[in-house]
Amino acid sequence: MFNKVLIANRGEIALRILRACKELGIQTVAVHSTADANAMHVKLADETVCIGPPASRESYLNIHEIMAACEITGADAIHPGYGFLSENAKFADVLEAHNITFIGPKADHIRVMGDKIEAKKTAKALGIPVVPGSDGEVRETEDAKRIAAEIGYPVIIKAASGGGGRGMKVVRSEAEMLTALQTTRSEAGAAFGDDAVYIEKFLGKPRHIEIQVLGDGKGGGIHLWERDCSLQRRHQKVWEEAVSPALDDEARKKIGDICAKAIQGLGYSGAGTIEFLYEDGEFYFIEMNTRLQVEHPVTEMITRIDLVNEQLRVAAGTGMSIRQEDVPLSGHAIECRINAEHPSTFVPSPGEITFYHPPGGLGVRIDSGVYQGYRIPPYYDSLIGKLIVHGRTREECLARLKRSLEEFVIEGVETTLPLFRDLVADPDMANGDYDIHWLEHYLAGKAAE
Ligand code: ADP
Repeated sequence: MFNKVLIANRGEIALRILRACKELGIQTVAVHSTADANAMHVKLADETVCIGPPASRESYLNIHEIMAACEITGADAIHPGYGFLSENAKFADVLEAHNITFIGPKADHIRVMGDKIEAKKTAKALGIPVVPGSDGEVRETEDAKRIAAEIGYPVIIKAASGGGGRGMKVVRSEAEMLTALQTTRSEAGAAFGDDAVYIEKFLGKPRHIEIQVLGDGKGGGIHLWERDCSLQRRHQKVWEEAVSPALDDEARKKIGDICAKAIQGLGYSGAGTIEFLYEDGEFYFIEMNTRLQVEHPVTEMITRIDLVNEQLRVAAGTGMSIRQEDVPLSGHAIECRINAEHPSTFVPSPGEITFYHPPGGLGVRIDSGVYQGYRIPPYYDSLIGKLIVHGRTREECLARLKRSLEEFVIEGVETTLPLFRDLVADPDMANGDYDIHWLEHYLAGKAAE
């Protein structure tokens, strides 16, 4: 196992990683910007290094400074968390060249999955179901028209290098296609420095269902069931649950097995997520994230498997602690992402937390780096923390979530807690009856009241 791990991240995920390291007896190094000197993970780490000013590109994205911190402290591995450098293949290459372990997959796998056209081709070759569409890049309007006519309108044009829900255009008719292809290409070129786009069928009312996977890098791979992340605002996940209310045991096992086989075929190493849109009983691959995800705790709650511990074990070469047949599935878990934002306008609300009282009790987990008196800096995302609740059934989980939300007190900043208190009382949510557009419609309805 490693002696010392440098955590190249901040906030709740830095603390999450630190906790897993401590339990394995690994020394920790927290790197931080000047704005994060008072962060919880910085206080709890064995060593700390300030790597620059608040702006991410000068600190958390600054590979030179992070490498210098690694050298000063003698860390033998880096955990990148999510966001920042976690899916940066060049960073993984640099670490390899310096004999420092990147706690994540091989750089080549990051590269392949970072290009949507390559990712889709790879997924298809590995036996994963994909959205019907073009075989790769489309450059000519005539080709676009022919492909769209084959799969049927509406279609969606997507940038190969797009991300975060940007670089996509829905096209509803051949008349719209006349300009849509070339506009999307030039927009993609301007935004991502790559004008490659492809076309696929536009799904009208899908759910977002993703499969958690783990690979040992030597051809071994398992799945840890699914998460349903259909509740989204502007393509950002808001509420995630495991398992999905839309799947039965047979469908769950079938897609899980497909993903586990794909991971074995790929020789994938570490934790990853294969994301799908799910409509009318069919799964359609959209992308693979080659890192730990924000919503990983719901999987941990239903399986009792510590995913960061597994990442550390795989990266250190000791192998996964579990086999597929030993992966439990017990009960139901829901995560709410509590942001420092106005609950209906979503305007960020940084500042000092003047009073903080988190909920507790059986089945309640809080992943958060904040405390009373902590000042949320204005420079980063507005996640205060994640409330994750487990119950033996979805019904018990919802009741526990409702009472946990009632107990949770955060003062001094605006938070999205009131939104979750409304959501947990909504009949559609109680029935698990929602798709990826549900929340936007719900919010538009509230705004019109
Ligand atoms: P990004 O990397 O930008 O997150 P994704 O390919 O994961 O891009 O797609 C983001 C979101 O866009 C999906 O969660 C879904 O809401 C929507 N989307 C993507 N592809 C389709 C499609 N073929 N049909 C309908 N919606 C889609």
